[in-house]
Amino acid sequence: MIKIALSCGLYVTKDAHWEGSQHQYVNDAYVSAVLNAGAAPVLVPATDCREAVSAVIEDCDGLILTGGCDVSPLEYGQEPAPKLGTVIPRRDRLDRMTCDSAYEKKIPIFGICRGMQFLNVYLGGTLYQDVHYYPHETIQHSQRSPRGETSHPVVVSEDSWLYRVIGERTLVNSWHHQLINRLAPTLKATAHSSDGVIEAFESIPDPSSSFLIGVQWHPEELHSTHAEMANLFSSFIDLCRDAKPL
Ligand code: MN
Repeated sequence: MIKIALSCGLYVTKDAHWEGSQHQYVNDAYVSAVLNAGAAPVLVPATDCREAVSAVIEDCDGLILTGGCDVSPLEYGQEPAPKLGTVIPRRDRLDRMTCDSAYEKKIPIFGICRGMQFLNVYLGGTLYQDVHYYPHETIQHSQRSPRGETSHPVVVSEDSWLYRVIGERTLVNSWHHQLINRLAPTLKATAHSSDGVIEAFESIPDPSSSFLIGVQWHPEELHSTHAEMANLFSSFIDLCRDAKPL
């Protein structure tokens, strides 16, 4: 069975019996999206032990960088702006180590929301630390409808992996207050919202490197109700299967 690594986030519980204790987590929706696509999810805990992270990734055929808190602007050479949200440097260090290991092993990488933003930063791009720093007015990117509902359209570029998977236009959900600013040189934008915001990218094909894709929305919340989002996961897992040495 194809194994997909899922990067963990950290949160401090407010639950009465465990108040103040730190937990490692991934949202259940990622686990069920991977299982539903026929692969086995493997959780990668947020730790500073590079050997442990590398040993977990060594066993995996693909990596999904999950959503979560903001990426530290120090990661792209900027200082924190007033509207920056919560940053957990340990999470940034984990994502850097998982990407290093995935690159070393040349396994495909799929970045979702924060995961997409992190990939851009990892490869030398930058972010707008908040939607209000974007030079144009935007549509609403933090929807106030339930997670399993879509809220805005995206248009997909024709010459892309994403186009072959989900077609030229689709509706997505949206919970991001940061945006891609300068795209990393090895990436190409593959979907935009009507305000010009980059909603998806993929790597410019390079046989010596991992193929990677990023989406700004949350397909894991839509996979059971929207066939094209289930297709996104199963097509990613096909990439992982194809990349696996025989
Ligand atoms: Mn959006």
